[in-house]
Amino acid sequence: MTKRQVAHFEPFTRNVKHTSRIELSQSALKKNINFIRKKLSDGTRLSCVVKANAYGHGIPQMVTMLDKVGVDHISVASAFEAEEVLEFKSDRMDIMIMGILYDQDIEWAIAHNIEFYVFNYDRLQLVLEKAKKLKRQAKVHIEVETGTNRTGMTEEFFKKALTFLKRNKAHIVFKGLCTHLGGAESLSNTFRTEQQKERYKGYLAECKKRRYMPEIKHIACSASALVMPETHYDMARVGVATYGFWPSPDVYYQHLQQVNKMRDAPMSRIISWKTDVMDTKHVPKGDFIGYGTAYQATHDMDVAVIPVGYCNGYPRGQSNRGYVLIKGRKARITGLINMNLFMVDISDIPNVKAGDEVVLLGKQKNNTIKVSSFTNYTQLLNNEMLSRMPTAIPRKIVR
Ligand SMILES: *Cc1c(COP(=O)(O)O)cnc(C)c1O
Repeated sequence: MTKRQVAHFEPFTRNVKHTSRIELSQSALKKNINFIRKKLSDGTRLSCVVKANAYGHGIPQMVTMLDKVGVDHISVASAFEAEEVLEFKSDRMDIMIMGILYDQDIEWAIAHNIEFYVFNYDRLQLVLEKAKKLKRQAKVHIEVETGTNRTGMTEEFFKKALTFLKRNKAHIVFKGLCTHLGGAESLSNTFRTEQQKERYKGYLAECKKRRYMPEIKHIACSASALVMPETHYDMARVGVATYGFWPSPDVYYQHLQQVNKMRDAPMSRIISWKTDVMDTKHVPKGDFIGYGTAYQATHDMDVAVIPVGYCNGYPRGQSNRGYVLIKGRKARITGLINMNLFMVDISDIPNVKAGDEVVLLGKQKNNTIKVSSFTNYTQLLNNEMLSRMPTAIPRKIVR
């Protein structure tokens, strides 16, 4: 290893196999993107959100896959993620940072033609200085406060920002005017979403009054992109639906109503997660399995040892509850999920041997383990479980 690698802990080339692996389906992505595009209004650009390592799927792979299906706008939550996207994107793809960009990285963003949110009036002065210094235009999206009370300028500061932007248009492009809906996936938030849409229109009216319009307007996330056409404007920032998940049951049922069907499966999960049986063991009736007394064999049992634990993103809440697939059959988890192991009951699955494929998430023969089967047991959100999949797990693109 060179000194530089040691100093930065850069990954070194691996020779041995990781304990598990992720597969990402290009055809499932194509299906999802086609569906989302069909839902979007004419002229609405699709921006796919790849924050949180692409909802755990892996930024390098997802950016490559999104390029193949013609997605040309990528949104991230931080400059740190943007830098990874930059490494893997094609020339036609634009990058937008929706969240944290440190002062020290503004120059980097401008130099790499990366669009970014500005939600704080004072930041504009800094952006101006950097743009002048680099002799390059900065592309900013002004985020406005419409009722979420996280980031976003209030009206008072927005008015000042408009004046500033208009005066400095040689250096700063008013690329977008945006806000984020706080809970568009739930019908119980309708009154709130309506209020946010109205407030957003107020900011647009202010732009019109001042005769200074943003190049594009955008407020939609997956939920509103799928069922609220009035939120589409010029671009939709679609995260969870890209990966084949409905944002919520509410959105799914609204979709069914719109297409007048009893059921529909226009999107598919992209991700599968697999490993192999590490060992098998016979457990006499009455013995405990794993740590503590969480599971006592009720009969003479056979168990398989799985080389994955909570350190690999496998939720501990699955202890004594979840299933994996072996030989296409469901094998129930016996005992606690350990840091890097857990055991499953294979008493009714004949001839299981070390090295047999284990599906943790996804399909094997006629059975499927869905992300929702994890989240039902563990109260985790789909997004929470997925985004915690460690980056170290190798990811492979499959057809
Ligand atoms: C995460 C995020 C999105 C995408 O949300 P989904 O519900 O996953 O589509 C859009 N906009 C902003 C600002 C976000 O942070």
